[in-house]
Amino acid sequence: MQSLSHTRNIRNFLRPCLLILLVIVLVGLPDLSEGTRPAQPKSRFQFTPRVIDYQHKVSDCFKLRTRKETRFIIVHTSEAGLESTLRTLSQGKVRGCRLTSCGGHANYAIARNGDIYRILAHRFRADHAGISMWNGCRDISSYSVGIELIAYHYSTITNSQYRSLEWLLQVLRKTYGIADKNVLTHAQVAYGGPNRWHPTNHRGRKRCAKNFDRQKAGLASAWTYDPDVRAGRLAKDDHLADIFYGSASLFASKEAFQSNVISVSNTAWNVAGEDYNSCNTLYVLPGGKTLPGDQVENKLGWKRLPAGTRVLLNVESDQNVDQGPIKTLERGKTAWSLAGPKYRNKTTFYFLPNGEVLPGHRVSDWDALPEHTRMIMGYRGPYTLHPGKHPKHVVGSVYRNENTLYFYPDKKLLSAVEIQNWVGVPAGTRLFVKLN
Ligand SMILES: [Zn+2]
Repeated sequence: MQSLSHTRNIRNFLRPCLLILLVIVLVGLPDLSEGTRPAQPKSRFQFTPRVIDYQHKVSDCFKLRTRKETRFIIVHTSEAGLESTLRTLSQGKVRGCRLTSCGGHANYAIARNGDIYRILAHRFRADHAGISMWNGCRDISSYSVGIELIAYHYSTITNSQYRSLEWLLQVLRKTYGIADKNVLTHAQVAYGGPNRWHPTNHRGRKRCAKNFDRQKAGLASAWTYDPDVRAGRLAKDDHLADIFYGSASLFASKEAFQSNVISVSNTAWNVAGEDYNSCNTLYVLPGGKTLPGDQVENKLGWKRLPAGTRVLLNVESDQNVDQGPIKTLERGKTAWSLAGPKYRNKTTFYFLPNGEVLPGHRVSDWDALPEHTRMIMGYRGPYTLHPGKHPKHVVGSVYRNENTLYFYPDKKLLSAVEIQNWVGVPAGTRLFVKLN
């Protein structure tokens, strides 16, 4: 009896197992990492982003190597606009006006409109994570696919970017069998050697994608602690620990996190990480004076860097820095790095290379402005000079103030102090007056 019932039990047990096995054979292994995820609305599955192949642009000196193993997907924010990011990712990094790498710095870049640029096919090792470690695994570039979002870690990431990223993550996670929680940000996995803020190996070297919202990218689970800090391999960075594993909600304290302006709670280290003293990091002091990161120590001293100083990352050259009210969006400077959210104020104006003048509220995104666009902040106008009129009839006594600007029909943009002959200012010139 016993043995008979035992056999029957085995048979009863085996029958559903065989059924499950048959289902697996017919439809393939279920994706276990999807188990806890709610079903997605149908429209999301139908969405396919535009993928632009950019692999032919990668520098010839970059060596293609296939990764042997893929455990992670690393999300970065590029800390620059699209044009300069694509240049850096494919051609290499510019340091002090020289190319210092061979490119191949990501597998994908996602523009703010959602377009995906394939820099390197996902099977190739991209040189994107630098000195890095996760759960004891070092050199994360050799174990991961790298994705750059065109954004600053202190700016917003657009909904179009999240939509394309979610699609890309689904494709990659399926290909490599990567669990939700092993989609990580560069800020989480990078670490640095001892410096003026940390006496030992530590997190915080990179701030990349610290504003990344996992839910918006369709990720259900996340690490709730840093395994390398817990194991004592690295010292923690309070600011990042708060964001990724703390109780502080990123959105509750958005103001403090989403700024490149130095304050008591937002240090140069918080904004720039290891690039704090780089010649490509530019400090714009409240008075408008600028200092590259490698000169702050000697010319001012880190402790004397005043609150209100704006930190510009990835400025390609500190030559010909705009000292007056007119800024130019070039050499790595963008409307976001120069103005933050004020880029779309009504009192911010853009002078496009084609001669068009746009007030901030008519600009769709800070990265939608072409390179070499000129920009002014805190202005009213424009006031058009009609034939036979003198500028003082248009704006009153401020017409000669150094901050009053004249946009000539031939696209010249001049400060009043540069104008000698007032009668010679052509009709059709538009005037802009600085707000107090
Ligand atoms: Zn990064």
